[in-house]
Amino acid sequence: MLRSHTCGELNLKDINREVTLSGWIHKVRDKGGLIWIDLRDRYGITQLLIEEGRSDASVVETARKLGREYVVKAKGTVVERESKNPNIPTGSIEIDLTDLQILNSSKTPPFTIEDDTDGGEELRMKFRYLDLRRQPLRKNLELRNRLSIETRKYLDDQKFFEIETPYLIKSTPEGARDFVVPSRMNEGQFYALPQSPQTFKQLLMVAGYDRYYQLVKCFRDEDLRADRQPEFTQIDCEMAFVEQDDILNTFEGMVKYLFSTVKQIDIPELPRVEYADAMKYYGSDKPDIRFGMKFVELNDVAQNKGFKVFDDAELVVGIVAENCADYSRKQLDKLTDFVKKPQIGAKGLVYVKYNEDGSFKSSVDKFFNQEALLSWAEKMNAGKGDLLLVLSGEKNKVRKQLNELRLEMGERLNLRDPEVFAPLWVVDFPLLEWDEESERYHAMHHPFTSPKHEDINLLDKKPGEVRANAYDLVINGVEIGGGSIRIHDRELQKLMFKHLGFSDEEAQEQFGFLLNAFEYGAPPHGGIALGFDRLAALFGGQDSIRDFIAFPKNNSGRDIMIDSPSVIADDQLEELKLKSVK
Ligand code: ASP
Repeated sequence: MLRSHTCGELNLKDINREVTLSGWIHKVRDKGGLIWIDLRDRYGITQLLIEEGRSDASVVETARKLGREYVVKAKGTVVERESKNPNIPTGSIEIDLTDLQILNSSKTPPFTIEDDTDGGEELRMKFRYLDLRRQPLRKNLELRNRLSIETRKYLDDQKFFEIETPYLIKSTPEGARDFVVPSRMNEGQFYALPQSPQTFKQLLMVAGYDRYYQLVKCFRDEDLRADRQPEFTQIDCEMAFVEQDDILNTFEGMVKYLFSTVKQIDIPELPRVEYADAMKYYGSDKPDIRFGMKFVELNDVAQNKGFKVFDDAELVVGIVAENCADYSRKQLDKLTDFVKKPQIGAKGLVYVKYNEDGSFKSSVDKFFNQEALLSWAEKMNAGKGDLLLVLSGEKNKVRKQLNELRLEMGERLNLRDPEVFAPLWVVDFPLLEWDEESERYHAMHHPFTSPKHEDINLLDKKPGEVRANAYDLVINGVEIGGGSIRIHDRELQKLMFKHLGFSDEEAQEQFGFLLNAFEYGAPPHGGIALGFDRLAALFGGQDSIRDFIAFPKNNSGRDIMIDSPSVIADDQLEELKLKSVK
């Protein structure tokens, strides 16, 4: 028998029990007569005790041969520890060893297997199997596992079917580049890996499987960031015979269920914020509503007072930083530098201190007297002791800039606690968005999203104003998921393709299968997909999704452990007819 227990379960109730443990050598402390060993496995750490003179001589001898990460089998008796460690579940006991066997030796690992390791990111990725031995990563994967099980439980309970869809498909239009795979049997032709199972889940609705889900890998060939991976996992869902509210309610239920079962947190009803309001009050379609600091538009009180910068601006808009009127010159300069960074691009920052004595001190005192500044403060609902921060410029740009400043202030004032969760729905997204590069409208979500019925007549004249039955789930300023009610009418779908610049032939060639399916009784349907890696990272209180994926890729899309992507052999290329032999 290699083990009777794991390294994470023995405690005082097991005193005098004869046990066998197996695991990795975490640490050895040899104090001459006494040797303590920390033995580690997935479940925890248990302390082993060897006493020279009293323990078997062979046990002492073996112990002195051990190195970090050796794999051993240890037999002994559970005894109470003299100096207990209250921080770990096994901290009250140790194992008085009667037998110790080395099952395998180990090279010295290139970094320490500790919660705070000395290994840099690249090194840890190269030796990912060692990194995964560390407790924080193990905990992340445990959380991920819990989330996937609870997700399945909830959806199963709601009568969803998990159905697998193919990975070797043809392009899906989610707006990113496809990864492609050459077909050996069909010379010169390629499969595309799915950016999402979008068209398949819609076909499943036509097929009558009215509640589908899948925890599924999706592939997008995009530039990478900390929260993006070329392959990632979605909780992909679709429902038939539903309207937008049915979907929002079902998945609001799931969000609440996951928070309550996985984090023991009760989430109140999710606010539903229209896209236009999200932009107006937060300058973002994924607002972080853990804190207020909503935008207040100031055109009517700040313009036409002789300050040209404001007078020329399309929008003058500000936020109130509570109790920040005592900000020093230096702090204010820092904020100004922040908004002037090229990534943010504001020309300057106007501040108004609403002093405790009721007076105002601002960076625009030359143009605005005390009375004028009071009218700003009143409009912004500011009180004595508060700091008003104001930007101006072209509407869309200035909103984006103020969003950055708002988030920065939230950060500075510790209003963005990763253990506080504030989910919301953003609804009524625009259907189309203008693309400067191709000089035409693109589907903001994807071409299967339905326009709001009452906006269809705007399609010709004001396409940018048409709203879609599309929604995003946002938590703590992160877009966790999105979806829409789909078009299920062939004619409307054709009209959409036309507005997106597809000719009838192109639409037929790319999506003929879907258009054809719509001729065989397609039910009204809609769905959503949630980013599973992001959800896991969010539940774990972290920004980066990487440490919630067992084997992630680095910033250049490489797996540096297996060294991929890599060149392939000439005969492989030849077989695929990708290159002729020299
Ligand atoms: N397929 C969409 C996506 O991956 C989600 C959806 O519309 O259901 O973003």
